[in-house]
Amino acid sequence: MSFASLGFSEALLRAIAESGYTTPTPIQLKAIPAVLSGKDVMAAAQTGTGKTASFVLPLLQRLAGGPKVQANHIRVLVLTPTRELAVQVEQSVATYGKHLSLKSSVVYGGVKINPQMMKLRGGVDVLVATPGRLLDLFNQNAVKFAQVETLVLDEADRMLDLGFINDIRKILALLPPRRQNLLFSATFSSDIRKLTAGLLKNPVQIEVSPRNSAPRSVKQWVYEVDKGKKPALLSHMVRNQGWEQVLVFVRTKNGADSLARKLGGDGILTAVIHGDKSQSERSRALADFKEGKVRVLVATDIAARGIDIIELPHVINFDLPKVAEDYVHRIGRTGRAGSKGEAISLVSADEVLLLSAIETLIGQLLVREVATGFIPTHHVPLTRQLQARPKKPKKPKPEQARGEVRKTDGEQKSGGHKPRRGRKT
Ligand code: AMP
Repeated sequence: MSFASLGFSEALLRAIAESGYTTPTPIQLKAIPAVLSGKDVMAAAQTGTGKTASFVLPLLQRLAGGPKVQANHIRVLVLTPTRELAVQVEQSVATYGKHLSLKSSVVYGGVKINPQMMKLRGGVDVLVATPGRLLDLFNQNAVKFAQVETLVLDEADRMLDLGFINDIRKILALLPPRRQNLLFSATFSSDIRKLTAGLLKNPVQIEVSPRNSAPRSVKQWVYEVDKGKKPALLSHMVRNQGWEQVLVFVRTKNGADSLARKLGGDGILTAVIHGDKSQSERSRALADFKEGKVRVLVATDIAARGIDIIELPHVINFDLPKVAEDYVHRIGRTGRAGSKGEAISLVSADEVLLLSAIETLIGQLLVREVATGFIPTHHVPLTRQLQARPKKPKKPKPEQARGEVRKTDGEQKSGGHKPRRGRKT
């Protein structure tokens, strides 16, 4: 099925062709007709599936035929959890809408509010916003919602994780009741379901990859390594395997800074993004990474949310995330829109319960390897898929069974070893 057969105007088809897209992705095939028809949509889709275009393209098509936007009004409101994602969504709106005469803008916190107020003065057709700043603008009468036709909640699960539920509820109460609602989320927790129950009317439900599973084109495995050896192993891998674009996830801001210093000290050009970095520092780091000026981008989970880099080949989990769902988000940065990717986790013995929670969530045991020169003194105990996720990660007990892992050369990804199932940790 082609984009033309989905019923897009010539102006949109031209922009799609200029973006280099030839065929719609699975989510686009399902979401575009539903959005065009004005129905509510609830889509389980990770970033990397083409989900942004799946709502932006049909919304632009609908907007192009509608009434003119009035001063300070908006017609489509897209809410996102982070400024990075907001910027990227608005860039997509601008790219796909470049042959249409529609206006779009993006607003987020952490920067001056006045320039954002100025842009809203004449009204904008599509506003992409983070929730807190949107409410600030509303309270200052800079934005009016009477003309809102469609609300999009993008990465709704992350908005709830980041504590935006009250802001979202406030915003929902301000919007005209007759409107189209689109909700995109990588995971569907009970909190999301509660939110959708009151929000969506007879939604078209779309699921493009099985719930909570990793994208299929991502090859995932684990290197067992002692905690203190992780920086050296990472540095060794980047240098010896000639990796050019590596996104490295680290749990804490301090951890991210110290890893970046170590890699920098080893002569690897590295940038860092985390919550303590200013917006301009984050944008610079991301731009340098995209342009290939730095080889490694070290990021914390929140800062990395929504990073969109086409065909990012390698994602490294320097440490495992505390929340298993974050693993799925993290590795969603690679193997995007069908390209191949590798997601490698450096796992130390104290992380066994986090590893187990991830394996339970994704429904598979991860292949384990040991890199030459980095054989751990503390082996990661074997895991099995648990029925329920452990509530609180604990340190492994000394009497726990020790993992058997084949020693392989860390410079070559070989077939790997699947830990046997059914062994207790
Ligand atoms: P998203 O899931 O929205 O983050 O999109 C992931 C990436 O896929 C983005 O870089 C898009 O530019 C790209 N993309 C979206 N739709 C298509 C398509 N139909 N064909 C190829 N690439 C696409």
